[in-house]
Amino acid sequence: MITVKDAQENIIKNTSLAKIIEVDLSSALGSHLAVDLYSPHPIPFFNQSAVDGYAFNFNQLLASYTIVEKIPAGDTRRITINEGEAARIFTGSKVPDGCDTVIMQEFTKVENNQLFVDDDQLQKGGNIRTKGYQIKQGDIALSKGTILNPAAIGFLATLGITEVSIFTLPKVSILITGNELVPLGEKLAEGQIYESNSFMLKAAFEKMHISPRIIHIKDDQKATTNAITNALNNSDIVVLSGGISVGDYDFVQQGILENGVTQIFYKVAQKPGKPLFFGKKENKAVFGLPGNPAAALTCFYEYIFPYINLSFGLKQAFLNQLQLPISKDIKQKPGRATFLKATTDFKTVTPLEGQNSDALQSFAHANALLLTPADAAMIKKGELVTVHLLP
Ligand code: AMP
Ligand code: MG
Repeated sequence: MITVKDAQENIIKNTSLAKIIEVDLSSALGSHLAVDLYSPHPIPFFNQSAVDGYAFNFNQLLASYTIVEKIPAGDTRRITINEGEAARIFTGSKVPDGCDTVIMQEFTKVENNQLFVDDDQLQKGGNIRTKGYQIKQGDIALSKGTILNPAAIGFLATLGITEVSIFTLPKVSILITGNELVPLGEKLAEGQIYESNSFMLKAAFEKMHISPRIIHIKDDQKATTNAITNALNNSDIVVLSGGISVGDYDFVQQGILENGVTQIFYKVAQKPGKPLFFGKKENKAVFGLPGNPAAALTCFYEYIFPYINLSFGLKQAFLNQLQLPISKDIKQKPGRATFLKATTDFKTVTPLEGQNSDALQSFAHANALLLTPADAAMIKKGELVTVHLLP
């Protein structure tokens, strides 16, 4: 059995980078940039008025200016304003040559086409978004690994970028084992339960913009081995739910190994999720998750989530981590590190009631996992503990 730290280091060492493809900007949502992107243009492209008002030359200090032009946004003429003159201008319009300042129309008076300015606060350069102030041509716009969220997609569109190199999202298969499991919507007989892990894990992947395939398998060696063969042929990541312990109906480990997968680790000194399996076959990853729902989800966040982030070239791949004082005493049996469902206000952390590996209700309320050291028997209120923030 290996420690949590060693297991996570093995995840880092054994991650395969995702393939890189070129896609239209409009279909890049949720993907990670595979290259550093440099700006092909200065933004703004030209000196732009930030308000509706009048453009003029600040240094002239005249009592009034003659309004000689009207420049709507999108006007592409090259206009020059001379001494003693001003131009009517609007938000987004190009500032004409000869002008360095725009005054908001609220601070002006116009009589007989003469502009009178009245703004003590106005400074030279005021109300102009100067060419290249946001980003200069050739400067880095977004760096490799950046997630393309709506803001990033909008930003790249402002740069005129139409295609981006991204890491492909992995093809994921989730194989669900367990003869006791019944699909939602069907009637349960005594002794059966609803199959819930597929919904939970699918949701966890979908939060990462990945749509997994779900396959249900009976607790049978041949069926398990065949389903894994199939999944390996069609996926970058194969996740198995249940059947990874040592019971008479646990066929997953043998099924994985029969498929030529190299075992990287099996069993981690952690609670919940001790029977976790991780293996590789070429650049494909196989995770055997325990069937207990809270254990399966904990393993997802602590091992699968970082594996995927690492495959996108991210340096910050694991859950964000803080050291915080715990708000009450806790006791544990030394030997295994424990991930406790917890809430945090970022000043302290509080473990929740209901820490069993099958209990999801507390997980639904948690915004963090509190990681206790494996050797501790007691942690006292106020001691600093490691907190992993849930995404
Ligand atoms: P296993 O890891 O297969 O021994 O399963 C451990 C526990 O988790 C058992 O109580 C199972 O009934 C339960 N379990 C396994 N798979 C699922 C699932 N997909 N949905 C809900 N509970 C499950
Ligand atoms: Mg089972």
